[in-house]
Amino acid sequence: MELHQMGVTELAAGLRKKDFSAVELSDALLQRIRKSQDAINAFISVSEELALAQANAADQRRAQGDANPLLGIPLAHKDIFCTRGQRTTCGSKMLADFISPYDATVVQRLQGAGMVSLGKLNMDEFAMGSSNETSFFGPVRNPWDRARVPGGSSGGSAAALAARLLPAATGTDTGGSIRQPAAFCGVTGLKPTYGRVSRYGMIAFASSLDQGGPMARSAADCALLMDAMAGHDALDSTSHPQGAGRFSAALGRNLQGLRIGVPEEFFGDGLDPEVAQAVQDAIQWYASQGAEIRPVRLPNNAHAVSTYYVLAPAEASSNLSRFDGVRYSHRSAVSADLQDLYLQSRYEGFGPEVRRRILIGSYVLSAGYYDAYYRKAQQVRALIREDFRRAFAEVDVIMGPATPSTAFALGAKSADPVAMYLADIYTIAVNLAGIPALSLPCGFSKDGLPIGLQIMGDYFADELILGLGDAYQRDSDWHRRSPSGEGQ
Ligand code: GLN
Repeated sequence: MELHQMGVTELAAGLRKKDFSAVELSDALLQRIRKSQDAINAFISVSEELALAQANAADQRRAQGDANPLLGIPLAHKDIFCTRGQRTTCGSKMLADFISPYDATVVQRLQGAGMVSLGKLNMDEFAMGSSNETSFFGPVRNPWDRARVPGGSSGGSAAALAARLLPAATGTDTGGSIRQPAAFCGVTGLKPTYGRVSRYGMIAFASSLDQGGPMARSAADCALLMDAMAGHDALDSTSHPQGAGRFSAALGRNLQGLRIGVPEEFFGDGLDPEVAQAVQDAIQWYASQGAEIRPVRLPNNAHAVSTYYVLAPAEASSNLSRFDGVRYSHRSAVSADLQDLYLQSRYEGFGPEVRRRILIGSYVLSAGYYDAYYRKAQQVRALIREDFRRAFAEVDVIMGPATPSTAFALGAKSADPVAMYLADIYTIAVNLAGIPALSLPCGFSKDGLPIGLQIMGDYFADELILGLGDAYQRDSDWHRRSPSGEGQ
């Protein structure tokens, strides 16, 4: 098998056996990245020199006996993670020239494990979007069909994986931004339990919902990344003291007696029949292995999108107030006084979707509307959490589609924000509750577009859902397929 077709687990074995070096591996992928950039636009920055230096260091560590499974494995970070001495843009003109003075904890941990960073991946501006079309650096194209979106906001991560430009990437998920692009691009992504992965150095969008996580070809590869990424971080006040885990050791599960809940709310109107069929077939596979399938109800899922679009903009309006053109970020050249400098810098630096969210957020937090919108949304959030609590009293995991459709065409929803927001109808409740969920490939449409199965677990069931994803992937090959022409 060619190097770029291998996942993390296979590459780790090859590096261990000295079939190839980390430098050879990174070099091969950097060449593919260079060739793909015009067609796919998955990267905002490519750091060839740094990557080759890190790869060289990894080869030396190995020569000295270091056997970390991630040693020498290349990845790239979503450009929302701060990387010291490198440009970190968050997909925005606001930070187009920002050089971070420090590394995010996730970046530091993966680097500590010996991973080689190839660059920074394209994304929706400030992670606001479901199609990667809000990026200041231009849209990313879906390698399965370049007229279609890769999903968002971690669209660069998902597209780079699908185009076989790298075996692993980081993403972040505030309302679906790991799972939805994973589904659209035929790759695997985990949104971990809130608090298991540090948010330090991850540019904040909506802090009570944001969670970084791994994206890769398979659940087993995601587990290897989680071994290094997860764990308590004193620099993040919402980081869980027991966040660490041995995710890769929890794979290889027996499915006998596993109780799988299937919510009818995830199979109603608006779900593409081809997606429904592929997801039902995957659930039937679990049944064939001894799992028990039970209906569950998530009645408040109907309110998840509207609740999210009050709470996430409210938090964003506060988080994004730091971008004022004074301390750092884009500064307008045409301002009359200080007030005008703030206004102009923010107007010029933020794109339309970000401005829309700041306006909505400021509105729902304002004195006259706080009770009607923000407080009400917090109450509905509690009900959504309660739905999951009740369901998980009866079942071990919940399965359903990750998205209502396969990847849509570029431009198809960009003029209609609400249609765009509904792309996350099956992913958002998970963030509001703070539970973990995995998205993995479970089939293709007649047009050859990937379909994603979503497996949701209770708090700290990250190991369990990765194990269930891995079990399915040991008996299926959807996750091994790659687009013809490989996006080149
Ligand atoms: N698509 C959702 C939004 O636009 C979720 C984004 C995310 O998870 N970062 O807010």
